[in-house]
Amino acid sequence: MFSVVLQELLKLPVGLSLRRNRTYNRDTFLNESWIMGEQRSMSSKPTVDIKDLTQNDIERLVLTLGQQGYLAKQLITWLYRRRIINFHEMTDLPKTLRETLKRVAFISTLTPNRIETSQDGSKKFLFSLMDGNSVESILIPDGSRLTLCISTQVGCPLGCRFCLTGRMGFVRNLTTSEIMNQILGAQREVATQWEETAQRKITNIVLMGMGEPLANYDNTVKAIEVMNYDLGLGLSGRRITLSTSGLIPAMERILSTKLRFQWAVSLNAADDDTRSFLMPINKSHPLKEVLEICRRFRLRPRERTIFEYVLIDGINDSPRDALRLVHLIKGIPCKVNLIPFNESPELEFRRPSDEKIHEFQKILLDRYITCIIRKSRGGDISAACGQLTGTFRRAMNSP
Ligand code: SF4
Repeated sequence: MFSVVLQELLKLPVGLSLRRNRTYNRDTFLNESWIMGEQRSMSSKPTVDIKDLTQNDIERLVLTLGQQGYLAKQLITWLYRRRIINFHEMTDLPKTLRETLKRVAFISTLTPNRIETSQDGSKKFLFSLMDGNSVESILIPDGSRLTLCISTQVGCPLGCRFCLTGRMGFVRNLTTSEIMNQILGAQREVATQWEETAQRKITNIVLMGMGEPLANYDNTVKAIEVMNYDLGLGLSGRRITLSTSGLIPAMERILSTKLRFQWAVSLNAADDDTRSFLMPINKSHPLKEVLEICRRFRLRPRERTIFEYVLIDGINDSPRDALRLVHLIKGIPCKVNLIPFNESPELEFRRPSDEKIHEFQKILLDRYITCIIRKSRGGDISAACGQLTGTFRRAMNSP
């Protein structure tokens, strides 16, 4: 039975993380000596992180183990609804299934090793990964909403000039389980650590932390699948926001799926020269292409695309920039989030004055474009993407 299970697992999607800290594909897995010749002993450690699997993968696994397919639903409920981290606690699964699962798979978790709380109630989590890297998530309470902003990569390959994560460079993609475990880990803290949140659930997820989600396409898509799935997190498309800097091929690809989420597109400039200066990705995917694909988003009734615009003093904050922006997004059902630049000693840019920020906003509002100035949350807790990791690294490196 065991070898059958392994053979079936070989059919799982390319890029599946089969051992902690290492991303395998089908070929590397086939080259493992214990697959090629030596039969793997039943006592060796399980290799499949069950949270790297989608609901379809889990159903296949359960069927392959000779069990009824409906048990996959129960298993998924234990993982994501009840946040159980041991197979033996899944008491409505047959004992034989629990025993076999223990041999072939493990359940990963993430626990924050640092949490900073802002005076405004935001909390920033630093999660250490098994390979020693770290990623950040930020929890933002806002009325009845409890939003968690999560990361999809360690570092980021896109190198936007105004972003600390971009300055770190790219380290690696997060696995699906590492993306999901930020949510489950934060929810556990919400439920157990603070009286004011004990009865609350995370209501909204934004993929807007470290990394470009669409540059980690496969794992981001699998994670959104689990978020959408009613026995997974059961979040509707309105409660999940995917932010992208405009990776056109991946945007095209995800548009052909049935995933439910809302779009946030990071513009940050209204002309190609300025945008290419701030965001090197603009050289290969210029504004015209980005806006062309935005016009093709399938929006539900009353849904609008969010355009993000980080306002930087003297770079992209003039009335002329505002008027150009109005012209660019004309005809797209949208709202614009103006994000005054969050200053950091590591970055050379400055936040514009309040007067300039309001003048910019007024130009858009006067032309009937919904435009909000995003409140700066967590200003006292290194809340800009990449700041906590930077602080943590410096602390670790200091004597
Ligand atoms: S702003 Fe986003 S896409 Fe740009 S470098 Fe930072 S994390 Fe990457």
